[in-house]
Amino acid sequence: MPEEAQFMADLQHQVAGTAKDCKFYGDLCKSQGFNVNEPITDDTLDQIPYVSWQHFKQSNQEFHKLLRVPIEKMSYWTLSSSSTGDPSLVGRGQADVEVFRSNYRKLFEEYIHMDQMKRLVLLAPSVKFLNRTPFKAMGIRGFLFYRDITTIWNNIPTDFMLDFKIGKLVRYYLSHLKFKAFIEINGKRLEKSLDKCEKEQLPALVANSVPLMWTNLMDLQKKRGKTYSMAQGFKVQTGGGGWSGTKGTVKLEQSIDKAEFFEKIGALFNIPITNFADAFGATEIPVSCGGHWSEKYQDIVHHLDMNQGRIILRDIESGERITNTGEEGMLEVISPYGVSTYAGVAVLMDDIVEILDHHRCEECGREGMVFRIVRKYTSETGKGCTSFTIYRPLKQ
Ligand SMILES: [Zn+2]
Repeated sequence: MPEEAQFMADLQHQVAGTAKDCKFYGDLCKSQGFNVNEPITDDTLDQIPYVSWQHFKQSNQEFHKLLRVPIEKMSYWTLSSSSTGDPSLVGRGQADVEVFRSNYRKLFEEYIHMDQMKRLVLLAPSVKFLNRTPFKAMGIRGFLFYRDITTIWNNIPTDFMLDFKIGKLVRYYLSHLKFKAFIEINGKRLEKSLDKCEKEQLPALVANSVPLMWTNLMDLQKKRGKTYSMAQGFKVQTGGGGWSGTKGTVKLEQSIDKAEFFEKIGALFNIPITNFADAFGATEIPVSCGGHWSEKYQDIVHHLDMNQGRIILRDIESGERITNTGEEGMLEVISPYGVSTYAGVAVLMDDIVEILDHHRCEECGREGMVFRIVRKYTSETGKGCTSFTIYRPLKQ
């Protein structure tokens, strides 16, 4: 584990390196009078110039300016699954890809005992499909960020529940030059897969999109008219939000009540609340944060692994750092690891967050910062942002 001093030294090194390699970030540091050679401490984290999530958006056409290496040296764009048709594009080399994959692998091992799983039931498209998506920008291929996380599970037999109509997608892409997914859930496959898990009492994992899981499992329960008796090691992993009912190209009529989700799906599989885990992460950052349901806060709480990075909150109006627990602020994620090919060392995210505890989770005993995601700041209009120094780039 890197000690605090080592972490801060690595961070300073990475900030200085980013300013040197990436003109965009270097100019940003200059315009803010930030001295990249100055040592960084926990008290000065908020002085590091940050890149706002919007600069990664395809529509802003600035994503390529955030590279630290010549475009031909990067491996591919990692893409967010976008609910607005405007994905984030983050150019990564293989070394950076391996860092975030390692962070997610640790999360899966720690929160759901990945090593014990015998089967995976994914409400997601197959890796084969994800590998075939035709996305390109500036002549370089792009793949969903999610693809590289899915491949962490490559050695475990997996049932993919989403069928995509590749022909339709390709035709749409060719005529609109934009992604549009044509999804079909394979209900029969879902039933068969869960029946097998029950019959063979498999330690298995159901994972992925909250809206897809919620609607399909509730539909399945109605259809079956009875619950499952799953093995002790049967678990459910959610991630990437979607509680508002919108995730990627899926839109529900209404938001999903988290307490109801855990209660009803727990009852359907006959598993305790401790068999659920959540993950918070994003395409723009290498950091991944595991989470669980909290009785105290009646919400999912997430934990920051201090080996991966630091989190600070900023006041929505002033941009000033917020350190008090119980106050909401915009999330900024700072990490020196996994950002060697792009200016991702400090990224302001599109999330409003509340810090619950700076040191320790009293419910599970994990050390480190505990926080909860309150809501998205915005996800509607990401266009036309050209200045870093304006804190609320969307405010007209
Ligand atoms: Zn906890």
